[in-house]
Amino acid sequence: MSLQLRQLSVRYGRGRNAITAVDHVDIDVPKGTTVGLVGESGCGKSTVARAVIGLVPVAGGQILLDGKDVTSDRARNSNVFRRSVQMVFQDPYSSLNPRMSIGSALKEALAHGRAAEESRRTAAEMIELVGLPQSALKRYPHQLSGGQRQRVAIARALAVGPDVIVLDEVTSALDVSVQGSVLNLLRTLQRDLGLTYLFISHDLSTVRYMSDVVAVMYLGRIVETTPTLELFAAPQHPYTVGLIESVPRLNHPRVRAPLVGDLPDPRNPPPGCRLSPRCPVGPIHRPDRKICTTEDPQAITELTVHRTACHFAARTAQPSVPV
Ligand code: SF4
Repeated sequence: MSLQLRQLSVRYGRGRNAITAVDHVDIDVPKGTTVGLVGESGCGKSTVARAVIGLVPVAGGQILLDGKDVTSDRARNSNVFRRSVQMVFQDPYSSLNPRMSIGSALKEALAHGRAAEESRRTAAEMIELVGLPQSALKRYPHQLSGGQRQRVAIARALAVGPDVIVLDEVTSALDVSVQGSVLNLLRTLQRDLGLTYLFISHDLSTVRYMSDVVAVMYLGRIVETTPTLELFAAPQHPYTVGLIESVPRLNHPRVRAPLVGDLPDPRNPPPGCRLSPRCPVGPIHRPDRKICTTEDPQAITELTVHRTACHFAARTAQPSVPV
């Protein structure tokens, strides 16, 4: 199943305190592929995930599953949708009941109306699918490691047989030593089951490892979308270049001006380009680039394979270090 977000917007609050956390976001995730959504904390990427699975209401735009509109709260809270789309969260501990054994948690996730024996057999299959021993079914969440708990969370998501899985910072809470094995598991499951992933992370290296296409998000908007290889070989948006250069590398000192400051207040985004107060090639370094503070570059983004929302994208320099 494919997942498409068309001009998706999500708003929180009212009046002067209203925040547009997700602002006209377009993302296409073809069946059986992974699109990585990357950006700083607070940029709105987790809100995209929550909107997709119906945890927050949609203020505008559309969510399409295989071309079918599932934007309404009713559609996203239906059993049919829940069987098609599942989510795995950052912290598996919070999504597992500490007083319920892993076997019971898996059986609970299965569709109602199954015979006890069938539920038991499916739970056993799921635990095997995520690489855990059958003995894990009798354990409780606190008796498992963080990596094992995340495998259980993946098994729970798989139990209903979804086509699309939204993965929100799924390795961020894990030790570096086990992150790779969970990512490899996800890749194997995708290959074997034909799953479609929306993979959300602040970590460029995991996004690079997992994704066919990457969408870069800044202050509620997508600023660049392109196939992964191209993003790292020839990023066009200054924010993407800044993110790539912010990854520390030995023997490769930064030569380009960095992104300055923090994310602006989303209740009061800067006029023109939202990156303009921080942009290393924008008006704070190049006073001749006044257009950045007056005209919104989102308007010039075309629906091409490599989309960039920047007035000067074609003239944006490549990263100064090998990536
Ligand atoms: S439009 Fe201007 S401020 Fe915005 S990213 Fe491009 S160069 Fe920087």
